[in-house]
Amino acid sequence: MARRPHTTVTGARAAITTRWRPSKRRAPGGVPVKVNAVLNANNAGDLERLLEIGRTQRLPITLNLMRSEQNGLWKNAADHRLEDERIRQLIDRILEARRTNPWIILSSRSYELARRWPDFTRDRLTAVETDGPVPGPPCSAGRFHCAIYPDGRLFPCTLTEEQVPASNVTIVGVAAALARAGRHGCVTCSSVCLLEMNGLFALRPRVIASLARTYLTTGIE
Ligand code: SF4
Repeated sequence: MARRPHTTVTGARAAITTRWRPSKRRAPGGVPVKVNAVLNANNAGDLERLLEIGRTQRLPITLNLMRSEQNGLWKNAADHRLEDERIRQLIDRILEARRTNPWIILSSRSYELARRWPDFTRDRLTAVETDGPVPGPPCSAGRFHCAIYPDGRLFPCTLTEEQVPASNVTIVGVAAALARAGRHGCVTCSSVCLLEMNGLFALRPRVIASLARTYLTTGIE
C-alpha cells in the first residue's frame, strides 16, 4: 500500500541518526533500514555528508529528485526546487559517487535517464505531449506495479494520483482497478525510483546488474 505522498515541503534537512552501528542496519524490532533522500534546494548542500554517512554506517540510500510540477500534488514544492542545471550537476555528482560508493542503490542508468529530462518543472509526460519514442524503459505502472492508497484508490504510480482516472479496489476489486489504471496514457517521467522500477520490469541489463552489484557488495537483504 502506498502512503500518501508528502504534500508539504518543510525545508527541513534530512534528519539522520548516526547511532546505527555498521553491523546494525536495522531499526528497533529488526526492521531493515533504508534512507530515501529527496533532494531539493534546502538539502542539496548536505549531499556529501549524507553519502559519507551512508558509507560509514553502511546504510542503503536512494537519492531522488524532489517533484515540483504545479499540478496540485506537491503544494509549495516549486518554491524549494533547484534550477534544472543545478539538478543535472547534482546527478553528475551522484553518478561519480556511485563508482566507489555501493550504498547508493539506484542504478547509473536511471540517473542518466533522469539527467536527460528536458524540463524539471514537469514530473511526467503523456503520449500526446511527446514526439515519438521516448528514451528509457517502457512504463509498466498500472500493469506490473501500482500505488494503492489507504482509502482504496488505485493509481498507476504516486505521480499520477488525482492526475488520471482511478477506481477503488474496495468497490471494483484490484483486477478491475488495475485494468483501468493501465490505460493512463503516460509514457515517461523524471522520477529516478520509477525509472528504476520500470527498468527492472523491462529487464534492462544495466539496471538488473546494478541491483545485483548492490546485493553482492553490500550484503543488504
Ligand atoms: S511514466 Fe509511468 S511511472 Fe512514470 S509517472 Fe507516468 S505512469 Fe508513473
